[in-house]
Amino acid sequence: MMVSTADSMANDAAAITRIALQVTGRVQGVGFRPAVWRLARELGFSGDVRNDAQGVRIRLCGTVSAVAAFKTRLIAEQPPLARIETIEVTPCDEPLPDGFRIIDSIGGAARTQIAPDTAICSGCTAETLDPFARRYRYPFTNCTNCGPRLTILRQIPYDRAQTAMAEFPMCSDCAAEYANPADRRFHAEPIACYVCGPLARLIRLDGRATSYDQHSMLDDVDAAGSLVQKGMIVAIKGLGGYQLACDATNADSVARLRSVKQRETKPFALMARDLAVIQRFCSVSDEEAAVLSSPEAPIVLLKLRIDGERLPASVAPGTDRLGFMLPTTPIHLLMLQRMTRPVVMTSGNRADEPQVIDDSELAERLGGIAEYALIHNRPIENRVDDSVVRVDPDGMRILRRARGFAPAALRLPQGFAAAPPLTALGGELKATFCLLRDGEAILSQHQGDMENVATFDDYQRNLALFNAIYNHVPTAFVADGHPEYLISKWGRETAKAAALPLIEVQHHHAHMAACLVENGYALDGAEVLGITLDGLGWGVDGTFWGGEFLIGDYRGFVRAGSFKPVAMPGGVSAIREPWRNLHAHLMAEMGWAAFAMNFGELALAEQLRAKPLSQINDMIRRGLNSPTASSCGRLFDAVAAAVGLCFDRQGHEAEAAMALEAVIDHRALIDEGAELAYPFSIPMLPGSRLPYIEPLAMWNAILGDLILKTPRGVISARFHRGLARAIVRMAVQLARRDSAEGAAFTTVALSGGCFQNAILHSLVRDGLGIEGFTVLSHTRVPANDGGLALGQAAIAAASLIADQTKAKG
Ligand SMILES: [Zn+2]
Ligand SMILES: [Zn+2]
Repeated sequence: MMVSTADSMANDAAAITRIALQVTGRVQGVGFRPAVWRLARELGFSGDVRNDAQGVRIRLCGTVSAVAAFKTRLIAEQPPLARIETIEVTPCDEPLPDGFRIIDSIGGAARTQIAPDTAICSGCTAETLDPFARRYRYPFTNCTNCGPRLTILRQIPYDRAQTAMAEFPMCSDCAAEYANPADRRFHAEPIACYVCGPLARLIRLDGRATSYDQHSMLDDVDAAGSLVQKGMIVAIKGLGGYQLACDATNADSVARLRSVKQRETKPFALMARDLAVIQRFCSVSDEEAAVLSSPEAPIVLLKLRIDGERLPASVAPGTDRLGFMLPTTPIHLLMLQRMTRPVVMTSGNRADEPQVIDDSELAERLGGIAEYALIHNRPIENRVDDSVVRVDPDGMRILRRARGFAPAALRLPQGFAAAPPLTALGGELKATFCLLRDGEAILSQHQGDMENVATFDDYQRNLALFNAIYNHVPTAFVADGHPEYLISKWGRETAKAAALPLIEVQHHHAHMAACLVENGYALDGAEVLGITLDGLGWGVDGTFWGGEFLIGDYRGFVRAGSFKPVAMPGGVSAIREPWRNLHAHLMAEMGWAAFAMNFGELALAEQLRAKPLSQINDMIRRGLNSPTASSCGRLFDAVAAAVGLCFDRQGHEAEAAMALEAVIDHRALIDEGAELAYPFSIPMLPGSRLPYIEPLAMWNAILGDLILKTPRGVISARFHRGLARAIVRMAVQLARRDSAEGAAFTTVALSGGCFQNAILHSLVRDGLGIEGFTVLSHTRVPANDGGLALGQAAIAAASLIADQTKAKG
């Protein structure tokens, strides 16, 4: 039964050997064992393969040359969802069976990774659309290479009985596929068909009866598509939660959805049947097409085509991009099959509430929004939103990490192996949490904004679920140092109740560390400069920070530079109403008299005079509800307001900044002389050694440009270039100062939500590169607060490892 040829008998390569391979990584529940089985049989091995607590263990008996080929081919041909991390090869003296066998799991599943949910694969797509296939138009078709994972999981190990499929015993046909190593569905836990699996059904949310054949010749799923085409809003039970769908080309439907969902201006996500539909509206590069069609199938923010068709402005107000995804499940695939227009596919919730996942809440929470709902009887165990990414020239960046990406584990860099298990709780907005264990970090899917009580409840429920799934018992909690964050308060109480330490981590330090972890920066690596630009975070001096230059590592940092601290009159109101920041900036720079004398003729001055300025000035002067913030995000708000973008109000925190980026004149950005970039200076903050970015000269230049009626696209370009140049200059000056004192950083880590601005990011990155710095950026982890928990976990781990070392020494 060995492979042998006449002329290789005397050859060493043909000698028989026995080895064992221990494979770690994401190798369970992804079709790994059958892939090994097929390869081993093809190469003529005897032996076996099994899951164990470390991953997968393979024992092989075969020729020396086949053994070498096996390892290479295993890596090259691993199943689509597998991620091999290590393969350790050792000699094997145990007796092996004849032939090659798959053996049932042994031991626990402590180190097993959980695969994220994955979009329908090409095999299942073809089968679902094949009128002669057993699963023709079956809305829950899946296989080992695709389908639900985290969203149906209740407990590990990942077996059908521990998932939402427990209630659906397999029929004999499915059971035969499940048991056949040669089948694409070998050990596919959510395997299902019409006979044994979940079924979809269209209902009216007002309780009245409906029958699909009023709306379709086919079935309920197709009928849902027809209703959307007729202008209805339909709630759809998707993979990780309910979604709301309407015809994106129908301005009335979109406007109605905005109004009933109470969503002011935040762009809606879109879904289209195929790439051809998307390309009518947006330009799609090869890289973007690949990401759209990848197993993760995220929402990709695509540039509008200049000559393309237009959707109603209310779909994505004030942006130059649309967020598109392709059908992710058979339900979406079937529903959109006959639709040549894009569909709004937004999360099923009202305002800031969490997405509905529970059928019992459907009528109550979405009844006033959608007329119909496409429901089914497979429960959603884990709420998972759609992920959002952008593809930059240097690769994909994840902006919201959820479906398809979470909870893929992130391996911790060198030096973190001894870290004790801990739980980091993340921040207040775009929150995630992070479980750290066994040298890896499990970063949760996007949980939402914790200002909303229902979202916060849901966060706690999800954290409990992750603890159960991963059998996670933390030895410490980690939280943001902000005194008022709900999560930080809750963390302090939870840690106290569990008699565990709570480690507080400064907001921007956590951002910097998240970037270091993501880039595999070793625990003992040299100090770096972290440039962390965002809206707001609590500083160690008890003021708000938000444009920070930190020098340090995982263990600590020094605040080496900053943006200018400016009042935020009205606190939270200043975030919602950009004119407040504009006024505060103008007052801090030149005062009203100088502004009115030099720039009083601007429409801007008129607009400001219409506001309650004396009251605002009074608040600033007396420090009443006007905390200062050295915020980059608020500077963007102020500049956006100055050029008439979101002057009165912004519907979400980044709207003004995104609008300022969207209007940019790309020709001015590339072609204009460098001298036209707005100037900033870098003086020292009074009474300190802290250099800061002073925008006075920039404001004079912008206001002057406004008098000259310079288009705002040009102003935006000059602002972006000027600010990027100032940021790079700050880095150079700090490095110079550092090297005069003996040790200069050579690596710069870029983090914080402002770096989701693609233009600011690339200008700063390129500028730092020219100055000779090694630049680290985010790609797989969001630069915004969605990455905070990862950085918090690493910083706490560094401090606990240092304590251990001290205790030993
Ligand atoms: Zn499949
Ligand atoms: Zn079946």
